[in-house]
Amino acid sequence: MNESLKLAAVIGHPISHSKSPKMHGYWLEQNKINGHYIPLSISPDDFRRLVPELAKMGFVGANVTIPHKLSALEIATKVSDRAQLIGAANTLTFGIDGEIYADNTDGYGFITNIKTTCRDWAASDGPSLVLGAGGAARAVLSALLDDGALQIFITNRTRSKAESLKRDFGDRITVIDWADISKNLDGLNTLINTTSLGMVGKDKMDLDLKNLSSQTLVTDIVYTPLETELLKIASTKGCRTVDGLGMLIYQGIPGFEKWFGKTPIVTPELREILLK
Ligand code: NAP
Repeated sequence: MNESLKLAAVIGHPISHSKSPKMHGYWLEQNKINGHYIPLSISPDDFRRLVPELAKMGFVGANVTIPHKLSALEIATKVSDRAQLIGAANTLTFGIDGEIYADNTDGYGFITNIKTTCRDWAASDGPSLVLGAGGAARAVLSALLDDGALQIFITNRTRSKAESLKRDFGDRITVIDWADISKNLDGLNTLINTTSLGMVGKDKMDLDLKNLSSQTLVTDIVYTPLETELLKIASTKGCRTVDGLGMLIYQGIPGFEKWFGKTPIVTPELREILLK
């Protein structure tokens, strides 16, 4: 190690499944930066004690994943507006004098992924329907509202969680019943799956999508498999589709920029590496 070596990490528990080390490693190499990005498995009991120590060991920042996204917000000395609104952080930057800046870049990753794939799309073009009301849904709502969405329908198997999101995000959100999804597909600008349905090892996505219009852009934040059942059906209906891998990639950019001072590039080669 030498003085100019910069270290960053992704912290989770467990962490071996994370694709972030491959992604940041690729960007470090592309940009010829003297740095390393490593996976760190830290238990919930140790998180609050160990993470502030990382700065003293030469770490410039860290991504944070399950189960630490709430604790990351709590140990921060400064929190971005979007992390505050979402109620969780996924990106920490360590400053001088022990400062810990917490941000949430999931919503940025979500919206940048769609806009890069479909350049003429905007959340303000028409109503969106969000399936799910978990942690990822909060980031998606915040990004849609930020992009000017005027009407967002949200539905969740457990309706009370969708109601709670409406309370937090305001009047532009309308809750509909999970059983009524098929009645609310007509005229949508965007359909977004933020549930774990359709993910390898999880329950199957089993919705009645016959009323889906070919004008609707359909995106799934699940990326294993890359083409989920939802995206397959949407494609057969003639809809534009956006897969979830780009969200994972773009959410990593703000952290990399802050820690290493360069804007990394998203290439087809990077997508291939992450899919291996
Ligand atoms: P979470 O907080 O655990 O929320 C899970 C959501 O899925 C809840 O809305 C839950 O509904 C719903 N759900 C689970 N099983 C269901 C079923 N059988 N029927 C109907 N709804 C069901 O998880 P999360 O953090 O929001 O993540 C959700 C998914 O997004 C995961 O697959 C995750 O890997 C993916 N994700 C991708 C990215 C990316 O970068 N592409 C980023 C974040 C997350 P209930 O409330 O009723 O349980």
